[in-house]
Amino acid sequence: MNVFYCDACRTKFETEGTRTEWIDRTYGPCIRWTAVCPTCGAECRLAETVHAQSGGSGIGGSMDWGGGSGCGPSCR
Ligand SMILES: [Zn+2]
Repeated sequence: MNVFYCDACRTKFETEGTRTEWIDRTYGPCIRWTAVCPTCGAECRLAETVHAQSGGSGIGGSMDWGGGSGCGPSCR
């Protein structure tokens, strides 16, 4: 099972999904997992991929946490 994330519903769901493989002229062999959202029917991507892409914008939040000495995200 894989975890997918639906942008339309903003929810995660688990399903087998569909594995698409193709040979890219520039990057070579590529693999992409897609699944159809059970709620709205939209095509969704792997949740891990979404998380990785949104990680860059979390830098500002971590700076706020660093303001208090010894204070981490868990105490907010
Ligand atoms: Zn959806």
